[in-house]
This record gives sequence, structure tokens and C-alpha cells, in this order.
Amino acid sequence: MTSLIGKGSKLYSIIKAKCPACHEGEMFNDPNPYHLKTLADMPSHCSVCDQVYEPEPNFYYGAMYVSYAYTVAISVAIYVIAAVFLGVGMWETIIVLGVILFGFSPVLFRISRSTWLNIFVHFKPKAQR
Ligand SMILES: [Zn+2]
Repeated sequence: MTSLIGKGSKLYSIIKAKCPACHEGEMFNDPNPYHLKTLADMPSHCSVCDQVYEPEPNFYYGAMYVSYAYTVAISVAIYVIAAVFLGVGMWETIIVLGVILFGFSPVLFRISRSTWLNIFVHFKPKAQR
């Protein structure tokens, strides 16, 4: 058994942007998502296990749906915290939400891509590679 966020779990690969097959290779050339010029730069294969990172042309179009789902989930969570628990007004909540989503968008972009690839590629322990 693997722990929820340890190596071998989907969450580990998604959050750390590691190859979904081996959890060792990097999914992005530049580890910092806030270097916007290199935000989407990915190697074609995993440097450790040779897993293909773009299984078909335009594979990452699907990541937009993942991004949308995360955005909705974050928005609902922030709205509930701000409006329901903290009693913040609607426009203040919307402004805070906009700032958070904007500031977080490069991270969300990468998390969405690694989530999308993790849906199709599963962890293979070393013995099975
Ligand atoms: Zn790999």
C-alpha cells in the first residue's frame, strides 16, 4: 500500500509534477511555474523511465476541462469560506476570488496538465518496468 501523498500515489505525481509512471522524472523543464515563458515547456519523454508525455497530438486540450473543474471547486470553496463563514460581501468575495485565481493560475495550469496525464498513465513500480 502507498500513502495518500507519498511516492506511488497519484497526488504525489500531480502536486510534485513528476512523471505519472515512475514518479521520478520531471514533467516540466523549468520547475518554477512563475517563469511564464517556460510555463508549458515539457520534455517529450520522461528522462527516467521513457514514458511519453504527449500520448497523442493536442493531448493537453483535455487539461482545460480539468482546469475548469479545479477552478469551480476553488471558487465554491472560497465563496463558502468568505461569504458564509466570514460574512464577506459578494463583491469583496468576487474580487478576492479573482486575485487568488489569477495569482494561482500558473500553478493551476501545471496541476491540470499533470492531473490529466495521471488520468491516463498509472504508476508502474520499478519491478514492472
Ligand atoms: Zn518516468
